[in-house]
Amino acid sequence: MKLAARAGRIIPSPTLAITATAKAMAAQGIDVIDFASGEPDFDTPEPVKAAAEAAIRAGFTKYTPSSGIDELRTTIVEKLQAELGLRYDPSQILVSCGAKHSLYNLAEALFEAGDEVLIPAPFWVSYRDQLLLNDATPVLLETREDEGYAIHPDELERHITPRTKAIIVNSPCNPTGATYDRATLEGIATVALRRDLVIISDEIYDKIVYDGVRHCSIATLGQDVAARTVIINGVSKAYAMTGWRIGYAAGPKSLITAMANIQSQSTSNPCSISQKAAVAALRLDDAFTARMVAEFDRRRRVMVERLNKMPGVSCRIPTGAFYAFPNISRLFTRRWKRGAITSASDLATYLLEEAKVAVVPGEPFGSSAHIRLSYATGMDAILRGLDRMETALQHLD
Ligand code: PMP
Ligand code: GLU
Repeated sequence: MKLAARAGRIIPSPTLAITATAKAMAAQGIDVIDFASGEPDFDTPEPVKAAAEAAIRAGFTKYTPSSGIDELRTTIVEKLQAELGLRYDPSQILVSCGAKHSLYNLAEALFEAGDEVLIPAPFWVSYRDQLLLNDATPVLLETREDEGYAIHPDELERHITPRTKAIIVNSPCNPTGATYDRATLEGIATVALRRDLVIISDEIYDKIVYDGVRHCSIATLGQDVAARTVIINGVSKAYAMTGWRIGYAAGPKSLITAMANIQSQSTSNPCSISQKAAVAALRLDDAFTARMVAEFDRRRRVMVERLNKMPGVSCRIPTGAFYAFPNISRLFTRRWKRGAITSASDLATYLLEEAKVAVVPGEPFGSSAHIRLSYATGMDAILRGLDRMETALQHLD
């Protein structure tokens, strides 16, 4: 059977694939420590579960309006107003099956062959493949670890061609854990205004920030910036609801309408029960997320400190999200029974096979010098996993 060319342009999500491998090993009774999963280990809050149960009991189990129920869209409008001071009409909100689906609808509605999209690297794995699926060309803007992955407006400008249509901004960033301050975002916004770029602002980790950092949305930098920005967010990370699959996009009405039309012809509405649960999540006070972030903070410090003590490893302290992204390039040329370690992928294979520790290699994020470890897993597992990793690194020749 001859498949469509676009199917051959992409690979399965590496983050999901490695997580699945770790879970399969655990199911076989192998004691594997999973630092690959990009999801909170916390349970979904009780009031959210109760709202879902009530929805089932009330028979709220049918199709809903394709773009999401009014109650949820209004709740999202209220959140954006309360937290960011931004005003949207509910018609400017599209609820989808996770933020990943929101981004996919966006790529379908906005891009066509030849369009170039700027992605600061390192970047979250699905941006590139979603663009490739929609015939667009990802253009990577390399950022530097020793500059905290800062984005420089003049560099940005140099990567823009007449075909450049959009830039993806992801703060807090997966995988680097970097957060952009207002000045950095102003620099990006100025270029976007001057060069007529759409700004895709993925703010899924907005509530997961440390060290007194306050999340800043680029859309808050002025009405002219908001008018060209699509905010992507959802309930997966802030409310430990990865399996419920609710994300949303907020942006210019014409674009949101086009995305809504695509959704109405593809998935129809996101799960009715999950939508009711998401309303309850967005109406929670800050206590649940604050408790979770405080625990992530504790684990973050322990993990980064331990990583920095390992031979050949150096790790910046992330200010957002729940990933450590250590540089492991000083280990290259060290050897094990299968030969020399020459890439992050080699090291990830070594750690999984020899130490039974699952990490995501940096290559699919755009860096072969790093690996990604999630600290959204219990402290006990973190300590055991880091012990094993340290021992394994000491055993390299
Ligand atoms: N953006 C980023 C940066 C992410 O890390 C994730 C996590 N998968 C998503 C979007 C998508 O989240 P979800 O589809 O679970 O809402
Ligand atoms: N965002 C998470 C991660 O990066 C979940 C997996 C995915 O959707 O890619 O691991």
